[in-house]
Amino acid sequence: MLVVHRRIMHITSVLLVMCTVLSGIYFVSNARDDRSLTFTVLDVGQGDSLLIQGPSSQQVLVDAGPDRSVLAKLGQYMPFYDHDIELVILTHPHLDHYGGLHEILNRYTVHRLYVTGVVEKSQGYQDLLKQAKEKEVQIEEVWRGKTVDIDPDIQLSIVAPLTPLHDVTVTDLNESSIVAKLVYKQSTFLLTGDATDKVEKALIATKDDLSADVLKVSHHGSEYSTSDPWLDVVHPQVGVLSAGLHNKFGHPNERLLKRFEHRGIKMFRTDQDGDVIFKTDGNTINVFTESATGFSFPGMSGTPAYTIN
Ligand SMILES: [Zn+2]
Repeated sequence: MLVVHRRIMHITSVLLVMCTVLSGIYFVSNARDDRSLTFTVLDVGQGDSLLIQGPSSQQVLVDAGPDRSVLAKLGQYMPFYDHDIELVILTHPHLDHYGGLHEILNRYTVHRLYVTGVVEKSQGYQDLLKQAKEKEVQIEEVWRGKTVDIDPDIQLSIVAPLTPLHDVTVTDLNESSIVAKLVYKQSTFLLTGDATDKVEKALIATKDDLSADVLKVSHHGSEYSTSDPWLDVVHPQVGVLSAGLHNKFGHPNERLLKRFEHRGIKMFRTDQDGDVIFKTDGNTINVFTESATGFSFPGMSGTPAYTIN
């Protein structure tokens, strides 16, 4: 009896290993065959971390959340064999955006790091820059006009800050946030860091094309960002924000959520939806949420929570 029981246990564990291997193979072939771009707003609690993955498993990570919780998320969404992150963009040097970077630099080969060069003397941030230099990460200061080709069809353009911030001291680091537009054919995303309404006003005045299908809502849904004029020019179909469950800042703000509701803009939020995955072929954007699918490989199971055509 005991022998039979052990044999069943053995078969079960072999099956488990096979399933794990097969799901890995599926993900590899999925990553290689389809031409999709995924943009994932990772649920890292009260902070921001966005993972952009191109069709050939190129990764751009925008911010790294407050702590090491981002590591489990990267392990979940990046192919198991991939230990390179082509580009990390730090929107601004606040801990809830760079806190996870220290561990990422230890575990992954980060090729390039974009910062603004704004002055931030905190020990945590200074240590991070030192560590990046020691790891020979190529650090670059960026501002409006910088464009990165993630893939021949996929561009990420920096739209803010409007001017170089090298050695510039600001009173509110949120105002120094990198704002970027991600474009894959017809699909567009606007990433805003923690930019304030003051930044929004300055950007609107540039008359740049800031329209986007998906708006990563600024500053965890704070009431001092995402003004009505901003929503007029971005004109998103979907908003997505990252905030920690029951956070002490009261993010996201109720009035802000009402602004989206009144305009009929669908909102996703990490405190309720978990990770939010946008998957697009350059035309249709399918939205998957961790809470709805309960499974994290996009496109592998379940119907999208929402579709943008
Ligand atoms: Zn923040």
